[in-house]
Amino acid sequence: MKPYLSVVIPVFNEEASLPTLSSRLFPVLDSLGKPYEVLLVNDGSRDNTSAVLKQLFSERPDVLRVFEFNRNYGQHMAIMAGFEQVRGDVIVTLDADLQNFPEDIPLLLAKIDEGHDVVGGVRAQRQDSWWRLFLSKMHNNLRLKITKIDMKDDGCMLRAYKRNIIDQMVACQEHSTFVTALATSFASNPIDVDVRHAAREAGESNYNLIKLIRYNFDFFTNFSRAPLEFFTFSGFTVAFLSFLLFIYIMANRIIHGPDANGVFTLFAIVFFLIGILLMGLGIVGEYVGRIYEEV
Ligand code: UDP
Ligand code: MG
Repeated sequence: MKPYLSVVIPVFNEEASLPTLSSRLFPVLDSLGKPYEVLLVNDGSRDNTSAVLKQLFSERPDVLRVFEFNRNYGQHMAIMAGFEQVRGDVIVTLDADLQNFPEDIPLLLAKIDEGHDVVGGVRAQRQDSWWRLFLSKMHNNLRLKITKIDMKDDGCMLRAYKRNIIDQMVACQEHSTFVTALATSFASNPIDVDVRHAAREAGESNYNLIKLIRYNFDFFTNFSRAPLEFFTFSGFTVAFLSFLLFIYIMANRIIHGPDANGVFTLFAIVFFLIGILLMGLGIVGEYVGRIYEEV
């Protein structure tokens, strides 16, 4: 039977969380009274996750589907792989580490029933380290400014989507993508709801500072051309300022006659050329950006 609901869960080194996850998730889903499936995507775990998944599958073969990656591709790729396989009309994503509450899933489904096509969980009281919260805040502000993707909490993976959104995301065939932002860019009637958040009980976060910086860099090159435009803009500024300097030096020379300013004339010319170069780089970048968008 075709399921109504598909739950996609990326799993990386979560042997300790999985048993609790299954004991909390299945009762919630069973109580919905609708056919469902749970897709667990093992993102190349290096601990005992694979064996635990086998065990879980033997307990609930009716609703569980397990996918194994040969190596670690990252949380978002694991989710996208799950999206390619889902059969339900409504798709929910959830982390395996139980920082989000499986018990909150009905909350999201209620919003879907009200006609929203993307429902985003918002970690109202987020239980993470202070530097994670700080980085997230910066990321959220920057995102709103330079990508115009407006969502409250793009790091919260407890989310629900209607089927057509998932189909469009899968059709993108992107290799480095951000599930939450991409989905919101396709949404026509998105909504945010507050969900609970707990500190990680078992295992540890798979994101360290370097990974988060890379994540942010990826994010902003993925969803905006602002980094390129920065170069075009600074090119214009440098060229313009050095042009003014050049005029000033020339005027000085005509009025006061030649002095030791030859070096400065040279400076002005060199800066002007650097400005032109940066501008050129920015303009080439604009074209590359357009090609990228078409792709
Ligand atoms: N995860 C994954 N691949 C990775 C990193 C993480 O599939 O390379 C999964 C992980 O098992 C968890 C979810 O993505 O289910 C979120 O990861 P984590 O809890 O480490 O991130 P945080 O909550 O610290 O943002
Ligand atoms: Mg987590």
